[in-house]
Amino acid sequence: MSDKKILLRQLPKIDLVVDDLNPEDISGVPPAIYKSAVRKTIESFRRGILAGKISRLPQGKEEWNVIFSAAIDKKNSPNLQRVLNGTGVVIHTNLGRSLLGQDTIQSLQVAGAHYTNLEFDLETGKRGSRYGLVEEIICDLTGAEAALVVNNNAAAVLLALNTLASGKETIVSRGQLVEIGGSFRIPDIMTRSGAILVEVGATNRTHLFDYENGISEETALLLKVHTSNFRVIGFTSEVSAAELVALGKEHDLPVMEDLGSGSLVDLSPWGLPKEPTVQEIVKAGVDVVTFSGDKLLGGPQAGLLVGKRDIINRIKKNPMNRALRIDKFTLASLESVLRNYYDLEKALDQVPTLALLTVSPEIIKKKGQKILRRLGGAGEVKEWIQLLPTVSKVGGGAMPEHGLASWSLVLQPGQDGASELERWLRTLPVPLIGRIEEEKMVLDLRTILDDDLPLLLEILQRYLERKQAT
Ligand SMILES: *Cc1c(COP(=O)(O)O)cnc(C)c1O
Repeated sequence: MSDKKILLRQLPKIDLVVDDLNPEDISGVPPAIYKSAVRKTIESFRRGILAGKISRLPQGKEEWNVIFSAAIDKKNSPNLQRVLNGTGVVIHTNLGRSLLGQDTIQSLQVAGAHYTNLEFDLETGKRGSRYGLVEEIICDLTGAEAALVVNNNAAAVLLALNTLASGKETIVSRGQLVEIGGSFRIPDIMTRSGAILVEVGATNRTHLFDYENGISEETALLLKVHTSNFRVIGFTSEVSAAELVALGKEHDLPVMEDLGSGSLVDLSPWGLPKEPTVQEIVKAGVDVVTFSGDKLLGGPQAGLLVGKRDIINRIKKNPMNRALRIDKFTLASLESVLRNYYDLEKALDQVPTLALLTVSPEIIKKKGQKILRRLGGAGEVKEWIQLLPTVSKVGGGAMPEHGLASWSLVLQPGQDGASELERWLRTLPVPLIGRIEEEKMVLDLRTILDDDLPLLLEILQRYLERKQAT
């Protein structure tokens, strides 16, 4: 008999295991959960054996039950977990992009626990529009005539293209046919929208005459796309929104711009790149501008469309809009976040994404000093944990690679190596995600929130204890 067959025969039988689990491992756990955990565990051993990856099985009930206990515990815990972000990437798509401030959390609480006037006009007693709750605010803040919010910016682009250019040609610069990540590619989304892509210009340079030469009887739209996570440097040239608008007017064609991040605030005074704000693009006369809710705006996942009233009205009437609509939680939190922007000081303070992007390196350094003091600051602490300058990244959207001066705690991995330390931190009850640099673990303090500090201290204490034990 082959080794694989012998191992397969040695796998425990599900029913017998289930009858013989440690009572403390299943107390309060629904049978459906622990049965499934046992079945999945044995199945994964079976797959491992068949793939030749497992050549030794746990020995005896004790050893197996340790494994089943961990599997049951994991299955009985929430899958979506809080983590500490030590990466320094403020808008981290994999870690949930933007955080919401306390007032905004409060609005979610209300929307979830109570009936609301989501689609009920309290003045007339008749049915209302959910978009009415935020449209005026968005218009106030951006200067646009009308606005609409959908599931995310990818949906906003799809909906706008489908409404304005299905079966017709849309002109885009070759330099802007980008992939944003998470399989959002401009050419693919255009195909799905029914719009026919007409590429003009070259990868590095596109001129106004390129767009002009691309216009035909079949043209329905001129599109400009923010290249976000991609930069062409050196000999480059791009047509501005204002120039495109002038060309559009001449030919009676609408102009659309996918801004991606879509900041309402010029962040250049805080050392970030000068990016056109949504207000500036609207003012340039672009007919429809799309941007994300959870990038630089710092709100919930959403896609905002702002622009000329007749165009936005056409988009609103597209039946696809219903399939892409936002829920009450998005509306509640978006309204709350947007209200902060009526007062810039308030926005910088209350919108966590803006606060994290604009906090000064000195304040971040003080946070590090405070942590070291709490740890006791003794010789062995300094040996294992150092406070050193680092560079944080903005993340998702317009300026993902832009560096911001920051401070980090640098952890020495010791003999186990940096990847083992990284794994240990990542598998803690509240995981701590950092980055490895030059075989050391770097924890950028920019994205460690004040609320996270007690937990971080606890983790660092455990880390020091482990070090001292070795
Ligand atoms: C991020 C981005 C998108 C996708 O936005 P989501 O809100 O993630 O759907 C589309 N276009 C550009 C230019 C982007 O930067």
